[in-house]
Amino acid sequence: MREEDCIFCKIANGEIPSRTLYEDDDFRVILDLNPVTKGHALILPKDHYRNLYEIDDSTAAKVLPLARKMAVTMTEKLGCDGFNVFQNNNEIAGQTVFHFHMHLVPRYDDDSQSFVMPPCGMTEEQLDAVRDAIVG
Ligand code: 5GP
Ligand code: ZN
Repeated sequence: MREEDCIFCKIANGEIPSRTLYEDDDFRVILDLNPVTKGHALILPKDHYRNLYEIDDSTAAKVLPLARKMAVTMTEKLGCDGFNVFQNNNEIAGQTVFHFHMHLVPRYDDDSQSFVMPPCGMTEEQLDAVRDAIVG
């Protein structure tokens, strides 16, 4: 299903042109318009899901194999030294476009980027409480 006024619905379904790296029945992989490194790309499902909370299991199950395939190809073609794969959910987590997408970020030894979230500091007891809250 597409959603009116969703830019990634329009891009994924070819209504707005994009620098497409790969396309199949379910996905389009495009270059990010404001890349954080050379080759920064996005996996977009053609159907609209707001984010990880809403994506259906069968689409979700195809995302990681596609990410792996793209990472292998892009590493070969771009000669990058590593790779970050991530996706953001809701504003607090940095989501700015509310159509599920997976970021593919090639990393280079000299790219001067970082990917660091400092530890928030938790005691063993606090870790136990968190585990209990999740599994309880
Ligand atoms: P988010 O912050 O939601 O995880 O990521 C949104 C990403 O989409 C950003 O990296 C941003 O640069 C990219 N982006 C936003 N609008 C467009 C667009 O119209 N075309 C392309 N190719 N990328 C976009
Ligand atoms: Zn959409």
